[in-house]
Amino acid sequence: TNVSHSQETKATCPYCGVGCGVIIEHDAQQVLGVRGDPDHPANFGRLCTKGSTLHLTAQPMLQQQVRVAQPSLRKTRLSADTPRQPASWDETYAYLADVFAATIREHGPDSVGFYISGQLLTEDYYVFNKLAKGLIGTNNIDTNSRLCMSSAVAGYKQTLGADAPPACYEDLALCETLFIVGSNTAFAHPILFRRIEDARKANPNLKMIVADPRRTDTAQQADLHLAIQPGTDVALFNGMLHILLWEDLVDTAYIESHTEGFAELKRIVRDYTPQFVADTCGISVGDLQKAALWFGQSKASLSLYCQGLNQSSVGTAKNAALINLHLATGQIGKPGAGPFSLTGQPNAMGGREVGGMANLLSAHRDLANPEHRAEVAALWGLPSVPEKPGKTAVEMFDAVEKGEIKILWIACTNPAQSMPNQSLIHAALKKAELVIVQEAYSTTATAQYADVLLPATTWAEKDGTVTNSERRISRVRPAIPAFGDARHDWQIAVEFAHVLEQQLRPGLPTLFPYPNAESIWNEHRESTRGRDLDITGMSYHMLEQQGPQQWPLTTGESSGKARLYEDGVFPTASGKAKFFPAQYQPVAEPADARYPFRLNTGRLRDQWHGMSRTGTVGQLYSHAPEPCIQMAPGDMARRAWKDGDLLQVTSRRGTQILPAQASAELQPGQVFVAMHWGAEFVSGHTGSGQPALGVNSLTLPVFDAYSKQPELKNAAVKLLKA
Ligand code: SF4
Repeated sequence: TNVSHSQETKATCPYCGVGCGVIIEHDAQQVLGVRGDPDHPANFGRLCTKGSTLHLTAQPMLQQQVRVAQPSLRKTRLSADTPRQPASWDETYAYLADVFAATIREHGPDSVGFYISGQLLTEDYYVFNKLAKGLIGTNNIDTNSRLCMSSAVAGYKQTLGADAPPACYEDLALCETLFIVGSNTAFAHPILFRRIEDARKANPNLKMIVADPRRTDTAQQADLHLAIQPGTDVALFNGMLHILLWEDLVDTAYIESHTEGFAELKRIVRDYTPQFVADTCGISVGDLQKAALWFGQSKASLSLYCQGLNQSSVGTAKNAALINLHLATGQIGKPGAGPFSLTGQPNAMGGREVGGMANLLSAHRDLANPEHRAEVAALWGLPSVPEKPGKTAVEMFDAVEKGEIKILWIACTNPAQSMPNQSLIHAALKKAELVIVQEAYSTTATAQYADVLLPATTWAEKDGTVTNSERRISRVRPAIPAFGDARHDWQIAVEFAHVLEQQLRPGLPTLFPYPNAESIWNEHRESTRGRDLDITGMSYHMLEQQGPQQWPLTTGESSGKARLYEDGVFPTASGKAKFFPAQYQPVAEPADARYPFRLNTGRLRDQWHGMSRTGTVGQLYSHAPEPCIQMAPGDMARRAWKDGDLLQVTSRRGTQILPAQASAELQPGQVFVAMHWGAEFVSGHTGSGQPALGVNSLTLPVFDAYSKQPELKNAAVKLLKA
């Protein structure tokens, strides 16, 4: 008889960094439903529109249409017109290992690059990092987290000494002032926003300040909206500190005991007078003063921030200048207080933990630190790990385009839509001698460039762990078998490594002795011993028995730390936090007479990234059915443009055609396009006659000097009626 037995498996939502727990309802073959996990401390049973429609993305009929079912490859390199042929995994690995070994022999290990993803699980990330840095000997491994969180990482490290968000979700209920900057939390982190709404109901005195050029859904609910001009955040924070100094609202005892570098910062912020800052930011002196006083006078001030600070050519300074405010007022290391960076992707945190980026090593170690390199080499049983810094995201695609990187392996991400300056990215993908794309979805723009396409498992099939914004590690458990011939991301990397090892280190024991995800996680756990994120007291068994846990959780402890730096001791050489001498710098590409509008990009509520998953769910389109360019009603009226008129939007890098939409959220001179739609969905054409490439055909690749994160949130554009 064909009776299906309903079963339940706990996992997490694969979308944003809130990291909500889900219960997958299934019959061991198919996903039947999904609901929020009432026991998960991120969401206590709630899910947003994206999470609650996850089961619809796993329907068998749909899977047949959108998934990669088996490996395929074309061996005729540089012949993109030849169709790929289906191949077995063994045949594919053998081919790849031959090409890798030959290319490495001829051009050195840096002729290879890996571009991976903040949506991979921690175990996947760990193995890819070891494959690149340990086996192949290149640091050319970077991830789409570079577009997401690298300025947050740099901001924390430059000030607090480690990449560790010091606050937790509970602090939302304990703060008196909530300062949200560069984050449309209501759209991008909806379940956290529910918690904010709960906190405001419970505490009517809680004051919410939102600094954002747009009057977003989040800003509309604020007690004070600071509609600052794009890119003026550092001026705002320095201006607030200037006022706090005048009003004697800085915590002198905290500054003296727990920080260094305040004298220099004080000299800098002296010039940030209220009038100068108000003029620079485009806000009133009164609002600036109100924000400073609300922040400085409250018993507990909590800041939430995201891509508005990170995706900037001065992203590190923006992050650090906000952290300066917390250090100067002692608003850190206590309940309800702290600078709390919201993670964009579900596991950008896990990727940072395993050091899966071009400048990092395992367990928050730095590539530039010789001791750290020696520690990782010892951990991996190798004489050394490579010292030369790897190429970061933008640099990596530049190097591919220049022919320096010849083989590019892309896993679980869609750079042919998400990277800035798309024309260059597409040119690079055409130029590469070999592009390997490891993907669940055959529909992404990047998959079209694959010489070798490898089918990967995805949500409801994957097995491992993720870490959310509040440092909480959750188990992700598989409910149903892999689709077709798909394999886990870590498994593909391990199996390929085993074949490549036969060529690169024949006769030596494998560096990848991993029968399952847990064995990888256990090695990662050992790498954290004595580090700021020490999880030696945690295990898969503990996560099974006690549910998700926060780090650090050291040997012998029964639970992790909700809050960091409660003792005022920071993981720096001196034990003191460091003020960052942040100076305001304007955006990289200001508007001018030829390109008079300022383009901002961002998320919508019901779509995720390039829509490879959310784009398959009909009901998620009801919120926003198609891409458009939003602009101030007055700007449209002056030009006699109406809603729906097609506009040609042109930057110095590309053009696309989009319908106009008047929006009171936008200030005059500013326009907004959502990031989600790519080549397949946009009706315009680039100057070269190629299909339009989504909003990132317009954005610019200029990046922050420390974090190397590109400025995706401000580009100068001109508009013409199409
Ligand atoms: Fe998923 Fe984020 Fe929505 Fe939670 S808030 S259900 S993690 S998309």
